[in-house]
Amino acid sequence: MKKREKSAMTAQNISRKLRCPLCHEAVEVRELKSLVCVNNHTFDFAKQGYVNILKKPVDTQYDDALFEARQKIICDEKLYAPVHDKIADIILNHSAEDSLLFDAGSGEGSHLQTILDKVNTETLTGIGLDISKEGILMAAKNYGNPLWIAGDLANPPLSDKSCKFILNFLSPANYSEFKRILAEDGIIIKVIPSSGYLKELRRELFSGTEGKEYENNDTLELMKKNVKLVKEERITYTKFLDAAALKDLISMTPLGWHADTAQIERFADKGNKEITVDMHIILAAAEN
Ligand SMILES: [Zn+2]
Repeated sequence: MKKREKSAMTAQNISRKLRCPLCHEAVEVRELKSLVCVNNHTFDFAKQGYVNILKKPVDTQYDDALFEARQKIICDEKLYAPVHDKIADIILNHSAEDSLLFDAGSGEGSHLQTILDKVNTETLTGIGLDISKEGILMAAKNYGNPLWIAGDLANPPLSDKSCKFILNFLSPANYSEFKRILAEDGIIIKVIPSSGYLKELRRELFSGTEGKEYENNDTLELMKKNVKLVKEERITYTKFLDAAALKDLISMTPLGWHADTAQIERFADKGNKEITVDMHIILAAAEN
């Protein structure tokens, strides 16, 4: 089956959980080619296997090089493997029968795909949405099973209470939409950096300046204001990366965007550097 049809088929299987991004009415998949609503708003599946619902292209700071670096760090270096394991366990403990895992801000899709592989059940359907079309295009190219959508987090094409799991991995949230699309027994899985996250990188690129410490208090406060925190877990570990991986790490993180080549070379140097991953995984439910 071609990628376009495969993507359309995934959408068809969950079409009652989707809605039109323009008029918010019900949609159906027509001829495995387009998503069409009752008012005839039509969104075609691209041949690469995704659907674009953005009204116009959006310029982001994310480009192909960044997404490639991100994919290498996630899939080849497996820098986040313990975090992925934890999230897979959380999903398995909540019964993933016939449910959606919506990755809000999926980028090039590696977090979502890795977690789906670990959960490994056909009854859980992944949906990845990102405002970067480049990211979604790469996701569709690399990972065939989830439904990939280039779209705005402020207007995901998902019905009310459609998602059992909302994943928000180092990415901004949109709580009013999260609350609308979260199923009654659903959970939000938000991953945010803790104080030690990538501290080696920050120490060298921002020595003596601000930005040395990650502050997640604001993120946490905003979350508490909007949803009901159920559980909070901190996960901390280190991993040695070689020079190539260290360069990828710099390219994929906003911390590295302002670094110059000399700084990057100096940081990566001969490699074999220990990098700290320190994160909070926060589970939340919609407020009743
Ligand atoms: Zn419509």
